[in-house]
Amino acid sequence: MKDTVLYFVLPCYNEEEVLPETAKRLFAKYNKLLRANKISDESRILFVNDGSSDRTWEIIKKLHEWNPAFSGLSLSRNRGHQNALLAGLMTARKYCDISVSMDADLQDDIEAVDEMIAKYEGGCEIVYGVRNSRKTDTKFKRGTAGLYYRLLEKMGVNIVDNHADYRLMSRRTLNALAEFKEVNLFLRGIVPMIGFKTDVVYYERGARFAGKSKYPLKKMLAFAFEGITSLSIVPIRIITNLGVGVFLVSIVLLIWGIVQKIRGATVAGWSSLIVSIWAVGGMILLSIGVVGEYIGKIYLETKGRPRFIVDEFLNDGKKKTDGL
Ligand code: UDP
Ligand code: MG
Repeated sequence: MKDTVLYFVLPCYNEEEVLPETAKRLFAKYNKLLRANKISDESRILFVNDGSSDRTWEIIKKLHEWNPAFSGLSLSRNRGHQNALLAGLMTARKYCDISVSMDADLQDDIEAVDEMIAKYEGGCEIVYGVRNSRKTDTKFKRGTAGLYYRLLEKMGVNIVDNHADYRLMSRRTLNALAEFKEVNLFLRGIVPMIGFKTDVVYYERGARFAGKSKYPLKKMLAFAFEGITSLSIVPIRIITNLGVGVFLVSIVLLIWGIVQKIRGATVAGWSSLIVSIWAVGGMILLSIGVVGEYIGKIYLETKGRPRFIVDEFLNDGKKKTDGL
């Protein structure tokens, strides 16, 4: 389909080490798709600079000057992977028929794009890239990720297993995504809510070929927590159930105490008393904390702050008008 305008969307945070190589490989892919008449020459490779402090934006600017196939969007400051990706997608939807999002380190195999486009041509509107194996991830990351996906499932969150943010989305689904106004953003959980015809494509995930991961453990944990609390209210329910459970236990203890009293047995238990005070106190604090987490989210959502602010946009593509 010669007329299909494809936008690759890649969030970049301090990626000066990988960008030149990424650009080279993507450009080769872009040209191949062009020659095969799969995409139109209005297609672009859109790099989103997520407030990098290194030369990332300079490199993107140079690429754009060198060839208009490269487009750049620069955010006013670092807003994190999910917001940067959203910024890219929300900008791309004004120009493209389909977007393909991926990480700037090309850990996702770009060859899988062919199959994604084929599925799109077959009528799919969202095509998820799914990792065949996680060989290149550390054992720790693999184990925790597996557990985490199970946990999310248990909490009623519908996500695609082993899918990161490598996916094809049609213009229609991007417009639908724009209707989700939440500030607390976990795209992997939101996209499946959109619906339409979807499919998956499998690929091998490689190792980052240069630079360091921009997801240290702390960010990863925050991201995981975000995933649960922005999509599920099950933790609050667990607390309610816990509260009921603790209350029932205390009633049993009360009855037991009365029985002991009637039987004339002396109360020996200073230690058991102090232990239960601490246990219950701890549980209450924990519960307040989790509830507070949700209230914090509500607070942020009610403010309706913008999720990203664009500083600069380099692109000379043709804007589409429908649906906007
Ligand atoms: N990223 C971003 N903003 C951030 C952190 C990361 O835009 O604050 C981008 C990063 O440049 C990369 C993608 O998100 O393109 C995924 O990050 P990374 O490859 O470091 O994560 P990992 O693969 O180690 O989970
Ligand atoms: Mg990576």
